[in-house]
Amino acid sequence: MIKQGDEDELYLIQETIHGKFYSPSQDDDVQQVIQELALNYESNYERLTTMFQFSPSKKTRVHVYTDREQFYKIIGRQTEGTYDAKDNIIKVFTPPQIRFVPSLHSEYTDQLVHEFIHAIIQQIHPAVGSVKWLDEGTAFYAALQLEDALNQKHHFREIPTLEQLNSPTFFDDYGSSAYFYSGLMIQFIVDEYGLESLNEIIREPLALETILDTTMDQLYLHWKAYLQ
Ligand SMILES: [Zn+2]
Repeated sequence: MIKQGDEDELYLIQETIHGKFYSPSQDDDVQQVIQELALNYESNYERLTTMFQFSPSKKTRVHVYTDREQFYKIIGRQTEGTYDAKDNIIKVFTPPQIRFVPSLHSEYTDQLVHEFIHAIIQQIHPAVGSVKWLDEGTAFYAALQLEDALNQKHHFREIPTLEQLNSPTFFDDYGSSAYFYSGLMIQFIVDEYGLESLNEIIREPLALETILDTTMDQLYLHWKAYLQ
């Protein structure tokens, strides 16, 4: 296996039709984890590029770490995955046990799909990244993590206010509930206004009110009523 010039510390472990998967280790368990991630990524590729009417011009580059501490050190914060618009690279932590534990398997394969959605929508329009509920909500909704959360009847915090939803610290303050409610906002937009409208918003995030022909205040109130 050859180390790649632009990813000098990493090995190219697997290349698929739409992705290149790298890791700092070539161990067997890393290769097997990447095989699972790659399979699930490819099986969601068509669905997501159709949904957002966008196909990346290059293969998606994914860096996979199976050592949590090493991953946190490289990212500089405690997260399971990230997409960086500056270099177009997805970085994920995936524990080697996913092959043996079904619940872990879906959690971490969904995580990569979630990051791929960030990659798609931020490539469509970088401004999506600055409207966090739109960015995270779309990723959570389209990765079907919202559907899972609804099925699990997990207990989430109370419905956030519009101010909280728009706050830059919402995701730090509200944790997993922030993803849940942002995902519900996207589900509401798709159900009430159609996927076409969501795609228009992603292409022009600051024109949301014009596209939906409403104000953010009214949208919030309708959403709240829809939740109850
Ligand atoms: Zn995310």
